[in-house]
Amino acid sequence: MKTKLKKNLICVFSLTLIFIFLFSNTAYGNNNNIYLNPEQKLEQIKNEQEKTKNQINLSKQKEKEFQTQVNNVEGEINEIQADLDDHLAKLDELNSEIRGIEWDLEKKKNKIMLLENELREKYAVLVNRLVEIYKGKEEGFISILSEPIDLQDFINRWKLVNVVADKDAIIVENVLKTRNNIIVEKKEIEKERDYYEHLVEKQTTLIRITEKKRSDLQEIYNQKFNLLASAKKNTTQLEYLLRQQEAEAKMIEAYLASLREGSFSGKFLWPTVRGRISSGFGYRNYPRRAFHYGIDIAVPYGSPIFAAASGEVVKITFGWGGGYGNYLVIYHGGGYSTLYAHCSRIIISNGQSVKAGQVIAYIGSTGFSTGSHLHFEVRINGVAKNPLNYF
Ligand SMILES: [Zn+2]
Repeated sequence: MKTKLKKNLICVFSLTLIFIFLFSNTAYGNNNNIYLNPEQKLEQIKNEQEKTKNQINLSKQKEKEFQTQVNNVEGEINEIQADLDDHLAKLDELNSEIRGIEWDLEKKKNKIMLLENELREKYAVLVNRLVEIYKGKEEGFISILSEPIDLQDFINRWKLVNVVADKDAIIVENVLKTRNNIIVEKKEIEKERDYYEHLVEKQTTLIRITEKKRSDLQEIYNQKFNLLASAKKNTTQLEYLLRQQEAEAKMIEAYLASLREGSFSGKFLWPTVRGRISSGFGYRNYPRRAFHYGIDIAVPYGSPIFAAASGEVVKITFGWGGGYGNYLVIYHGGGYSTLYAHCSRIIISNGQSVKAGQVIAYIGSTGFSTGSHLHFEVRINGVAKNPLNYF
């Protein structure tokens, strides 16, 4: 009974019993509240344990649901990511296609440039020959060949005046045709490039949409993940609570087991020396009209007070004590407790176990009292009973 476990038990109980013995504040009032006793407390904790277990199951169920949701969203994100990867690959293809086209275009531009250089050279040769051949001839003939704005037109005029096709003119004409063909080809390629650029634009839009979808899903994923995390946290907290409840239940069981060692019979010893009962249990008019929760035994000041049965001291209060003065409460198990009020001295301490008949205090007149006496109460499950029925 004097082990550390015992002290721990008392700590737990002193809290419980502070509530149990609330009546000390309404000592002479009409609040005959049914307070808890260890047996009831144990039952209550067992009920709470069941509730906690149910809550844990619910929380775990929620965890499962959220986990499923997280997995589903994760699956969706993976799908979207696969789509996005496809779209990006397609965009890469399109861009490389465009690079190829640009390369072709560049080649065509170079080819055109070379042909135009060649044209300029050949044209210069033609013009020089023209000047050589018709030097000194009529001015009007020359004027046919003047201001050759259009090269093809010039060639046509040249053929006209030369009748037989000149080799150089044919060369110039071929180069010109080749150049024109290439310009047509270049335009085709530019069209093709425009088409591909249009495809790139479409692809880029598709990628933006997909990225938006993915980021939306990511947000949903985060929300679900947070829900899952808080459900897990909740489960952990509940499991911790359950462990606490189990520990508390164990302490109460150990405490009750220790009380059973005393095997309380439900009968009490007379709690002090022989004396007159100056006030009985129940309604009375003196010192005022109120319910009297115990009996008053008038005995000389300083007489010993005995523990009415073996048990555990669960409360000691010094001072006014809500009218009780210096008083103490002993719990005997089975819902039984006894209270000893108006003491002059208390010689045992809170949490101590006492034997039936052991001196625990001395008669006094502390608190609301008109003379030295013992106010003695018997309570079962917090309900005050007439002590005279238990001797
Ligand atoms: Zn009294």
